[in-house]
Amino acid sequence: MKVTDHIQQADKTLVSFEILPPLKGRDINSIYNHLNPLMEFKPAWINVTYHRSETAFKKRKDGSFEKVEVRKRPGTVGICAAIMNHYKVDAVPHIICGGFTMRETEDALIDLNFLGIDNVLALRGDAGKNEASFEPEPEGHRYAIDLLKQVANLNNGIYLDDDIRDGGKTKFCIGVAGYPEKHFEAPNLATDMQHLKDKVDAGAEYIMTQMFFDNSKFFSYVQMCRDNGIHIPIIPGLKPITSKKQLSVLPRIFNVDIPTELSSEILKCKTDEDCEKVGTEWLIQQSKELKAFGVPVLHYYTLGKPKVIWNVVKEVM
Ligand code: FAD
Repeated sequence: MKVTDHIQQADKTLVSFEILPPLKGRDINSIYNHLNPLMEFKPAWINVTYHRSETAFKKRKDGSFEKVEVRKRPGTVGICAAIMNHYKVDAVPHIICGGFTMRETEDALIDLNFLGIDNVLALRGDAGKNEASFEPEPEGHRYAIDLLKQVANLNNGIYLDDDIRDGGKTKFCIGVAGYPEKHFEAPNLATDMQHLKDKVDAGAEYIMTQMFFDNSKFFSYVQMCRDNGIHIPIIPGLKPITSKKQLSVLPRIFNVDIPTELSSEILKCKTDEDCEKVGTEWLIQQSKELKAFGVPVLHYYTLGKPKVIWNVVKEVM
């Protein structure tokens, strides 16, 4: 079922979770062990992130180095199929431009369609580890909007090869990313907003946001979207702070502000366990306020912290 249908049919705030594929070498049980406790909250769907391959240099026996492309977290499509089969719940794969040619994307979309997956979150992806800025693949997409247009074309039966006539139409519901505190590369929020509006005009059906820790940023963002003619559902992405290190890492990587009230409480903590308690309480209050505001869904990035998310959702739902 499509994300938008879940939202339309809901009579209360929904909850959804996001997971990462496990590192190569681990099996599907690591996903089930992670998700099992969270399934008691009956999530509307589970998002599965996508991770591009990275260039690495492997030392040969003779001391020289070999350049290899390594995908540390493969398996997004298979994990989505396994989740749907195991839990009978919808899975939302992330698809990205980075590391993919358009033809590879088309083939991946055909696989997803054959598996009965109705949703994709269309993203650009970040620059590769050894790149200063994002570089598309030759024959790949530069921006998320270009990927989105490819999915929208497939929904209309338009394939890359124009000799495919009367091609089968897919029916993907397409989500896109939004940034309440602006994307780190955008010169300002207004420009970023225009690019978001372009994605909506090209067929995006809902927006899922980057994490934020100050709800007032989200509320202003929703208002700004509405003022700019964006009327599709906006789903807040939520993550707990669980260590002191994150006070510097999260702002640097995700361009998010951490409110002084939260950072000063975290700085007082003596152990990571104490930090987790503060982060859990903050996320509970954040979630309750968002729920009261009327968000359609509370989407939690569970990323290695399912117990913290369990404690939060237990209090909120
Ligand atoms: P875009 O919408 O393409 O925007 C990227 C930048 O380009 C922005 O600054 C935008 O303002 C600008 N821009 C857009 N269009 C134009 C244009 N036509 N001309 C000039 N500038 C333009 N990454 C992963 O690798 N895997 C994941 O699974 C993943 N999941 C994510 C889930 C969520 C909810 C979010 C918020 C992010 C996720 N990311 C993931 C990270 C994401 O890929 C990065 O934030 C990436 O840098 C931008 O992706 P985007 O889809 O927002 O890109």
